Amino acid sequence: MIIDLRSDTLTKPTTGMREAMFSAPVGDDVFGEDPTVNALEEKIAKLFGMEAAIFCPSGTMTNQIAIRLHTRIQTEVICHKYSHIYLYEGGGIMANSLASVKLLDGDLGKITATQVAASINPDDIHAPETTMVSLENTMNKGGGSIYTLDEIKPIHALCREKGLKLHLDGARLFNALVETGENPADWGAQFDTISICLSKGLGCPIGSVLLGSKADIKRARKVRKVFGGGMRQAGFLAAAGIYALDHQVDRLKEDHARARKLGEMLLDLPVVSEVLPVSTNIVIARLEGTTPEEFMSKLSQKDIKSVKFGADLVRFVTHHDFGDEQLEEFGRRIR
Ligand SMILES: *Cc1c(COP(=O)(O)O)cnc(C)c1O
Repeated sequence: MIIDLRSDTLTKPTTGMREAMFSAPVGDDVFGEDPTVNALEEKIAKLFGMEAAIFCPSGTMTNQIAIRLHTRIQTEVICHKYSHIYLYEGGGIMANSLASVKLLDGDLGKITATQVAASINPDDIHAPETTMVSLENTMNKGGGSIYTLDEIKPIHALCREKGLKLHLDGARLFNALVETGENPADWGAQFDTISICLSKGLGCPIGSVLLGSKADIKRARKVRKVFGGGMRQAGFLAAAGIYALDHQVDRLKEDHARARKLGEMLLDLPVVSEVLPVSTNIVIARLEGTTPEEFMSKLSQKDIKSVKFGADLVRFVTHHDFGDEQLEEFGRRIR
């Protein structure tokens, strides 16, 4: 048995999800005529109390569309230096939107309103105009850390006051919400746009959604087209998203419980000096006296897969296809 903890994107559709996909009514979504895509977009927008949503092939695309909506040439995005939009989207802020980025530091990948306030550029010919702030919840490179609503509210208020757009890279937002018990609509009220991945812990094969105002999502359809993301009978994929929202949200808690146990098991190893606080389904271990390459190669001899996440860091992500049996087996093998 291979224990693959490289990512929660590795999950394969469950039987119920496959059946929902197989029987989905479809049409041409570029014409706006796919009933299942339309149903998914309406369902998720309503859940977050936002006006509209757009279904896209990836979370990189939904984030990059949001950046295009909220910037112009010679403007600037504020985000944490560990942000996915900066580290893992191929320089898209520059390549897609000709915008600059200001990177902030902060514990576990999170930033505060005070930091944002100090980072807004002055109205000065030398500086790119700050137009947008982007947050990430959960924070991947912060070890799956969670922003609470109370941490977001002051940032939202500041953005309102300064006329900045506020975007959320909520690739794993549902992981945060099942932990805190917060209401999706309260989150929807804080942001101009929210990106959510269906293809991670929610277990869909493909797809992300961008939520926002009617006007923004209308513009987003044009941007998606030029990014090459206009899909035709995409309802087969959207059906998986509807199924996941109905059946596979609450179970994310199980991933979190297993991640906490996995973190404890790792901490027992002499080569692991620290495990970042485990808040959701991401476990980041810091190594001592060995390298990620050496550690990971030992693990892979035991059919355990993980990813390097920094000079002395290795990441493990729990997911739908990692159950109690795999967790026990993981413990046995690393011992
Ligand atoms: C996975 C992920 C994305 C989007 O990734 P895609 O592979 O393009 O869907 C965006 N932000 C974060 C934090 C992610 O983990």
